[in-house]
Parts: sequence; structure tokens; C-alpha cells
Amino acid sequence: MKYIEERNKIIEYGKKMSTEGLSSGTSGNLSIYIPEDGLVLVTPSGIGYFDIKPEDIVVMDLDGNIVDGEKKPTSEWHLHTLFYKNKPEIRGVVHTHSMFCSTLAALRMPIQAVHYVVADANAKEVPCAPYRRYGTEELAITAVETCKDSNAVLLANHGIVTCGKSLESAYGLAKGMEYVAEVQVRAMSVGKPYVLSDEEMDEVLEGFKTYGQVKRELK
Ligand code: 13P
Ligand code: ZN
Repeated sequence: MKYIEERNKIIEYGKKMSTEGLSSGTSGNLSIYIPEDGLVLVTPSGIGYFDIKPEDIVVMDLDGNIVDGEKKPTSEWHLHTLFYKNKPEIRGVVHTHSMFCSTLAALRMPIQAVHYVVADANAKEVPCAPYRRYGTEELAITAVETCKDSNAVLLANHGIVTCGKSLESAYGLAKGMEYVAEVQVRAMSVGKPYVLSDEEMDEVLEGFKTYGQVKRELK
């Protein structure tokens, strides 16, 4: 079987999504893109994350033609493939119905800069895409159009989609945005949260370019 490492990674992160509270039941889905082959590995539809076996992962091209796998792919395959088509640098996409992102999505409200780490999404706020039915190409189109340069977008009355240079980073962003969404919902429940200004967020985005262990030139 091809792509065993990637299949196992998807299974590992699917389990994490369940145990770390980002997904209940079979909600959400994950994928990895293999650019050399132009193929996407996606989770199968409607199977619990602890029951997915490596052979259940579905391999498809960016037009949705199934190349390998017996199971039906995630109902959100349009969403996954369209993200890879529109953001050539990304290698992982994660979709969840996590509680606080879904709460803001029910209000059709963006995740605001109530905490500076919203900038992890490469944006000053995470926008909310208009409502479209789950599993439709229209949902994928509105999500990608609303997302623009952000690496995260809320889906009205549904949840969130995140992407990144790896499945790990897309997953980390889904966790991080759930944290900011929780801060926002909790703050709104006791008062009116302060939202960082455009200028303050510009400074954060600038700071993030050199945050952490940035590679130094070897002398
Ligand atoms: P799948 O089980 O088909 O991936 O659907 C879950 C979901 O979140 C649909 O939006
Ligand atoms: Zn969903």
C-alpha cells in the first residue's frame, strides 16, 4: 500500500481531534496533499476516528477522481481539494466542529483579535464564510473566497477549516483558533471584549516573522 506514513499521520491526528475535544463523533475531516503526484489523502466519510484503518483512507486527485480506496471519501472532499488548488504551498487541511468556533459560526461572527495569537492564522481576524449546506461545492467555493490569505476560516452554522504547510501545522492552528474563539465567547459572556487595533495587529504580524528559534546564518 502506498503512502503508509501519510495514512498513519491522518489516523493519528484524527484520534487527537477526538481526544483533545475538537471533534465529537464523526464530525470533521482531515487531509494531506502529495504535490509530486497531485494526489490528496482524505478521511473516509462517517467513520469514527478510532475505527479508521490505513486502507480506509481515500486517495483522490484534485478533481475528486478516486485513485485508491474502497470507502466513500469525506463528504467535504470539495472543500479539501479546493483549498489545495487555491493555496499551492499548503500540505494539510483540517476541518472541525469544535465548540467555540462553532459558537461564533452560529453567530456568523469572525474570530476577532481578542488575543494576539489570532495572528497565527496569518490574519488580523478569522472571517466567517456565508452559510452553504455541508458537503457542497458551494460551501468549498465560499470558504475559499472568504479565506483569502488567512489560513483559517469559519463556516457559518457549521465549524472551522484550517490549513498549513503540514498536517501538524493545520491541526495546531485548529487548536489555536479554538483557544481564541473560547476567549472571545467567554469575554463576551461577561462584558465587551477589547479588540486589538489594526496597527497593534500589524506589529504582532511583524513580530511573528522572527518569533521563536529563527534560523541564524552560520558564520
Ligand atoms: P464526513 O464524515 O463525511 O467527513 O463529514 C463530517 C463533517 O464534518 C461534514 O461537514
Ligand atoms: Zn463539518
